[in-house]
Amino acid sequence: MDISLDIYSPVQPLHNQLFADKGLQVYIKRDDLIHPIISGNKWRKLKYTLQEANRQCKSHLVTFGGAYSNHLMATATAAAKFGFKATGFVRGEEVSNDTLFMCRLHGMELIFTDRDSYRGKQALFGKHFMDDLDAFFIDEGGASTEGAQGVAELIDELPETYHHIFCACGTGTTAAGIINGLTTHRLPTIFNGVPALKGGDFLKEDIDRMLTSFADYLMHTDYHFGGYGKTTPELIEFIKKFIAETGILIDPVYTGKMLYALYDLASKDYFSPGSKILTIHTGGVWGLLGMKEKFGF
Ligand SMILES: *Cc1c(COP(=O)(O)O)cnc(C)c1O
Repeated sequence: MDISLDIYSPVQPLHNQLFADKGLQVYIKRDDLIHPIISGNKWRKLKYTLQEANRQCKSHLVTFGGAYSNHLMATATAAAKFGFKATGFVRGEEVSNDTLFMCRLHGMELIFTDRDSYRGKQALFGKHFMDDLDAFFIDEGGASTEGAQGVAELIDELPETYHHIFCACGTGTTAAGIINGLTTHRLPTIFNGVPALKGGDFLKEDIDRMLTSFADYLMHTDYHFGGYGKTTPELIEFIKKFIAETGILIDPVYTGKMLYALYDLASKDYFSPGSKILTIHTGGVWGLLGMKEKFGF
């Protein structure tokens, strides 16, 4: 079984008056176009993980996520595409929503798990799948060194060198992969992470653990808008305006916060004129569906 996707992720310019006034060249790498359901960075993180499962002749993917997890949906879809069986442990009491609908539609079995048991992921895996020799454990969010290894390939695809790269962070695996890619290619580009959750400093330890060698990078920890999955009216207004002006869908959980940070920093003269900045559209546009009521249409 060839476990790969043809990667279509062009780098496109983002034009607007703010960037023109500040003398900035801003681009967006469209990892959201890699697959309609398998969110861009989730595919990059799953690639070597699924190849490893296949190498070990494991045919049943077992993973974890919240009820709105892009990772659960990506794993369910990738499992269907590449012929794996899939089970997802879902944090919290039983609910139904668009994400879980897509998981089930792709054949994933869901096990709703109370928050206390959910914390012991290895124990849950052991308890349910002790006798299943085909079961293969994939951590929440696809967090792993294989995950970072897959993300590093994003840097191989870049058409030119940038002063800054901006990317949203959850577990930090995507950040670690990009930083490793920059190190491998000996690029001077500064990595700027925008944590989608509170406590971004804690995230730094997780990222550092996945780095292939020491590297400096920046984290902009003030753009979580109250925490993971939280929004504010300013964030929602920004997202509406961005989508209507560019035709590019972004979501309130990850890419909306990252782009808000970039626009805010640009307006505060954070970047020197002439800077070339690449933003990474990590995908996750389905996250919009869980937040429709916030938009007030
Ligand atoms: C999961 C996700 C992230 C966070 O990726 P990590 O590797 O966990 O940091 C960023 N953007 C989108 C759209 C995501 O779905």
